[in-house]
Amino acid sequence: MYKVEDDAFVMAANKEKALPDKHQRTINYLRLSVTDRCNLRCVYCMPEEGMQFIPHREILTYEEILRIVRLCVANGIRKIRLTGGEPLVRRDILSFIEKLCKIENLKEVALTTNGVLLKEMAGDLKRCGVSRINVSMDTLKPEKFNSITRRNLFDRVWEGIEEAESVGLTPVKLNAVVIRGVNDDEILDFARLTYKKPYHVRFIELMPLGEADARMQGFVSSNEILEQISSLGPVTLEKSALMSGPAVMYSLEGAKGKIGFIGALSNHFCNTCNRLRLTADGALRGCLFSDQETDFKSPLRAGKDDAYLQELIRNTILNKPEGHGLEMKNLRKCVRPMHCIGG
Ligand code: SAM
Ligand code: SF4
Repeated sequence: MYKVEDDAFVMAANKEKALPDKHQRTINYLRLSVTDRCNLRCVYCMPEEGMQFIPHREILTYEEILRIVRLCVANGIRKIRLTGGEPLVRRDILSFIEKLCKIENLKEVALTTNGVLLKEMAGDLKRCGVSRINVSMDTLKPEKFNSITRRNLFDRVWEGIEEAESVGLTPVKLNAVVIRGVNDDEILDFARLTYKKPYHVRFIELMPLGEADARMQGFVSSNEILEQISSLGPVTLEKSALMSGPAVMYSLEGAKGKIGFIGALSNHFCNTCNRLRLTADGALRGCLFSDQETDFKSPLRAGKDDAYLQELIRNTILNKPEGHGLEMKNLRKCVRPMHCIGG
């Protein structure tokens, strides 16, 4: 195992508290999956029937997660995004988030949700300290929502989005995975929404994870989407937003909101990726698409001390894969589906 005593890696850790990996990327962002369960069954993510979820005893307890997060923060993590599965379905999530937000030196806690429980929880999320949310919304049409998510909850999600806006979980970001023949006819409607609402509408390229594997023929590239949107008028690149995450942001002239593109396949952002991911069952991963992961649950439950766990964190950072290596021509699938890793 990598020993941390003797090189620039540790010097940087001591000085900045943010660790670089072998490719000189500073790793300061952790995506935290708190559950693999969900109250929707999106066609590209989960099968309709027969989902096999991780047994409860294998899921990290909140105390275990908080311990790992504290150690990650001691090693440079400054931002956390809660995800899943659907993070808001986990029992007592609010009291967990409240504790999470109080961790010293953690600068931001954000959340990705399908929005089903947002109407009742948005105010509490804000009070607990969540600064921003992303809501997944792949369609603006109720019937299509039912066929994509296999649940009749469109209105509830929209009410949740409006509630998030009204309690100040802003800017509200809407994530839409675009699939040809499913919702690509709504690209312009999503873009037009930014004239009316100050939302960030982000188009996500379909990725070969989970149920999406069989649907990759429906892949629509970010460039194709941008080209369509350009028919509405001049689209300006938002330079200030370039470094704010994987989305490349644009805006339409006169719009209140912005439009983003997350081109994980066509325009991957591996060279600036600053993320780690912790799965609900306690595996720390350097990359969404690489099945290389470090088991934290076993050493944690075997009573290993903080020094041992910190070394595991540093090794995971150091050995973060250089890139996902996925290409449209040559797709491979990850063993773990998206709802397990945390999208
Ligand atoms: N349940 C929450 C939600 O849907 O926002 C959080 C977890 S979900 C796995 C996180 C994000 O991953 C969602 O925006 C979802 O649309 C996206 N996602 C899931 N499977 C995907 C796939 N195969 N390709 C691209 N995005 C995917
Ligand atoms: Fe649930 Fe999110 Fe997967 Fe949809 S994408 S099934 S909401 S985890």
